[in-house]
Amino acid sequence: MLRQAMLAVSKSERAERVITTSPLTRDVVKRYVADDVVDVIDGLTREGLLVTVDHLGEEVTDRAQAERAVREYLALLDRLPPGGDASVKLTALGLRLSEQTALDNAATICEAAAVRGLTVTLDAEEHDTIGGLHFVHATLRKEHPDVGIVVQAYLPDAIERCEKLVGARVRLCKGAYTAPGAYTRPADIDRSFVRCLRILMAGTGYPMIATHDPRLIQIASTLAVLDGRDVNGFEYQMLYGVRPGEQHRLAGLGGQVRVYVPYGADWYAYLMRRLAERPRNLAFFLRSLLSR
Ligand code: FAD
Repeated sequence: MLRQAMLAVSKSERAERVITTSPLTRDVVKRYVADDVVDVIDGLTREGLLVTVDHLGEEVTDRAQAERAVREYLALLDRLPPGGDASVKLTALGLRLSEQTALDNAATICEAAAVRGLTVTLDAEEHDTIGGLHFVHATLRKEHPDVGIVVQAYLPDAIERCEKLVGARVRLCKGAYTAPGAYTRPADIDRSFVRCLRILMAGTGYPMIATHDPRLIQIASTLAVLDGRDVNGFEYQMLYGVRPGEQHRLAGLGGQVRVYVPYGADWYAYLMRRLAERPRNLAFFLRSLLSR
């Protein structure tokens, strides 16, 4: 219930106005969103962690704004270290205008990334964008075989999606939005996650295991051994600001760990999704507002 309410708030322009203009939210934002992205990238890289960087923004319905997002990504690519990845939301690139607009813009970013030896991953968003996401990904893959895609385990067709994504770079996550028919019970989402994980780890692609859930991380590590996966043949991914100790522990064991680093002024919807994931976060957020 609380999660649904928070996700509804994430789409409210009125709430966005109130929250983003309050100086009191700054500390909470700083926990999840990089203030100085270059500094954060450098710090994580020095600590032996990989990065995927997201220029925040989504649900763009204006062509010029989508073009601005492309320019921002092109500038960002110049700042990424070797092995760096850009996480891209197709609705920031104009998916709501047309699939072709998002495809053209994503292709520009993929070409620039390829020149620099970097990769791009397409984030998964609201359920009504998933068809467009797979169309854009399949089209881009013809030129850029290493372009990654996200599968959300809470969608009942996640297993089928994983089976079809033969040889691809696939980030598996639980899913941060709401969708009609999606699994909502944690046990169902976890079951779907594990079934997807089995397919991806036994397959020919490159699995990117995006979770902070200790049990799922343990299952992924076990499957990696059982499937004879090299440590360089898959990676763990976690969000900036969430379980940094675990990020370092896994990297210390020799695993590849990539941190998802969001930055930029358009942080509202991203922050609300993070708060929705954990009621304790919401309490922390409210406390920090009230304690001023
Ligand atoms: P949970 O059961 O939610 O969390 C497990 C434990 O992790 C919690 O008990 C807590 O200790 C810790 N934790 C989890 N979330 C938080 C938090 N916000 N603050 C503090 N502690 C927390 N979703 C999409 O729909 N599309 C995407 O493209 C997408 N990309 C992602 C990329 C990465 C690298 C990651 C890590 C997640 C991404 N997600 C995406 C979000 C994902 O779907 C989940 O909503 C989110 O990761 C929380 O699920 P969990 O697997 O960590 O498990």
